[in-house]
Amino acid sequence: MIVPPGSTIGIIGGGQLGRMLSIAAAGLGYKCHIFDPHDHPCAADVAARFTQASFGDDGALAAFGDSVDVATYEFENLPVEALKVLDDKLKPGVKSLAIAQDRAREKQFIETAGARVAPWRSIESLDDVRSAVAEIGTPLVLKTGRYGYDGKGQAWVRSADEIESAWSAIGQEPAIAEAGIDFFAEFSVILARWPDGSHVFWDSPENRHRDGILRVSTVPCSADVRSQLAEAQAGAIRMAEALGHVGVLTVEFFASADGPLVNEIAPRVHNSGHWTIEGAVTSQFEQHIRAICDLPAGSTALTGLSASMENLIGDEVDRWPELVAESGAHVHIYGKGDSRPGRKMGHVSRIIAPT
Ligand code: ADP
Ligand code: MG
Repeated sequence: MIVPPGSTIGIIGGGQLGRMLSIAAAGLGYKCHIFDPHDHPCAADVAARFTQASFGDDGALAAFGDSVDVATYEFENLPVEALKVLDDKLKPGVKSLAIAQDRAREKQFIETAGARVAPWRSIESLDDVRSAVAEIGTPLVLKTGRYGYDGKGQAWVRSADEIESAWSAIGQEPAIAEAGIDFFAEFSVILARWPDGSHVFWDSPENRHRDGILRVSTVPCSADVRSQLAEAQAGAIRMAEALGHVGVLTVEFFASADGPLVNEIAPRVHNSGHWTIEGAVTSQFEQHIRAICDLPAGSTALTGLSASMENLIGDEVDRWPELVAESGAHVHIYGKGDSRPGRKMGHVSRIIAPT
């Protein structure tokens, strides 16, 4: 059902993704209502309405649901049961959320959908870590089952004598153990899917991380990554279909010598797609709004020969005077206040125009 411009879109989560969704929605004449537990979420600065309440507050969620025509989320660590009150108004639905927020379920789901992942084991105890090391070998990475982001909740086991320290480092929580992959590149598949099952892909960005945090995304990707895209895109769309996903879905991959391995999925717009704001005819943010409101798809073609996006992390945002003075640089500052180390404060995109 079409949700026409003028309607209100609810966004659960008030971070930079909610902010950029809200800006894109405003461009099409929608109003946004942000739902977030924090005092001054940066999305609320650019939205028509803001409800401050905990993500598990049933009453507040019900009132929020009544006030919006369609609702979406920009953050996956949300209580699935509480969100069920939004019923069909929530796009993507709770299935995408439930799978993406639990690493063990996510890995199983990816394999069932017929895509490949690194060898992995489900971990409940120190003994499970010992068995995983015996079976998979090292290096191996422990990742908490829930709440990990930007490399948080992860610890490497490089040799058997690091088993106990790694298990302590992740807080002895339910986790997965995953083989360390000697990838030659990382990339993502970003797609948007509509209620009728139609879908579009953008060019796949090649992504460089440091300390578990995305630093730079570039399109087009290298030829070696490009040769893995057919398999990667086929896997990504099978996952979107199995989830009945509506909106943007991002799948992170390791490009290995044996082909593409799925790292993780995000049922939402993604940092590796920020270049689409200026680098694609339709940004991931506008396209997500189009998909959940059932408007036609916009073109995902590149606007230039290439695009790159660099994150501004922590006090790197203090470089803004130099960046805003750089001709052609597209500077985005999220208005988050405190620039704590490791916090994503903004990004800058550069598009190489056709000659
Ligand atoms: P997050 O949810 O924090 O993004 P990821 O699982 O994507 O967690 O890990 C963050 C980054 O850490 C990855 O993009 C990659 O650079 C590195 N990494 C994660 N898992 C592995 C692995 N199995 N082998 C090699 N590098 C990995
Ligand atoms: Mg990741």
